Amino acid sequence: MKRVLLLIAVAGPLVLSWSCGGSPSNPTPQPTPTPTPAAEAPQVINGWNEQPVAAEATPPIVGLGQGVVVRASGFLAREQRYELEPIALWPAQPAYVRELVYDWEFEDGSFRMVRWDQPSFTLTLDGALANDGAVRSRARQVLDEIQRRTGLQAAIGAGGEVHIEVDPSVADLQAVAEARLSFRGATITGGTISFVNRQEITGGPGSSYHNTFLHEMGHIIGLAHSPDVGDVMTPAEGRGTTFDEYQRNEAIALHLIYFHREAGNRPPDRAPELGAAAAGSPRYTVIID
Ligand SMILES: [Zn+2]
Repeated sequence: MKRVLLLIAVAGPLVLSWSCGGSPSNPTPQPTPTPTPAAEAPQVINGWNEQPVAAEATPPIVGLGQGVVVRASGFLAREQRYELEPIALWPAQPAYVRELVYDWEFEDGSFRMVRWDQPSFTLTLDGALANDGAVRSRARQVLDEIQRRTGLQAAIGAGGEVHIEVDPSVADLQAVAEARLSFRGATITGGTISFVNRQEITGGPGSSYHNTFLHEMGHIIGLAHSPDVGDVMTPAEGRGTTFDEYQRNEAIALHLIYFHREAGNRPPDRAPELGAAAAGSPRYTVIID
């Protein structure tokens, strides 16, 4: 008996509200309760292979938006605001990353990471290069490797942000190529690579090095020079100039930069929102060789 009365008591107001409203509008939805962000021990992963990492967080318990520093052996010390998401650490030596990634001095004297923020770009082959099968094939191979490592989609076509040309005057610099970049703050917006001749683009017979195109495109996507002569980004003449793929530590750097970090990150691995207000663009935007 009591149960029946209870049902009627609930049903009553519902029926009244529909019959009295006379409007087809939806009933007001219940407000979704906003969960209070709890402070917690952050989950830490290896940014390269996504595996859990035993790390030391300072402070050990953090809430949403709070600054935290995370340290683990073999990884860069990471400093960022906590987003209630696993914190991805960068497996690398600080000196290596400083040289490969942070060798961009800004107008305010700081050194910061640069990268593309747009998901795709177009690469334009200048003049006769556009119809050169060997050049097109090489460009596609290089762009595929970049897409594999960064997720950046790149097409070959007219009017692109990245321009490829031959300029024999590059020989005056005692160089085989020169890369020039354009920026908006720490974000790369375009670039031009000038090769001393066509052979250096394809890396085939008659070229000084096999992979100059891949090396120069490494600059165009934000890398500087590697201290390891076995890396594609080595400025030296060594085995690094023979590979068609970025080597392991370069691949790790590109993965961290493009999947886990923002333009303007600071050494050793500090999120841009924690630094002083960023000013200007990189001071030097031309890289020779
Ligand atoms: Zn170079």
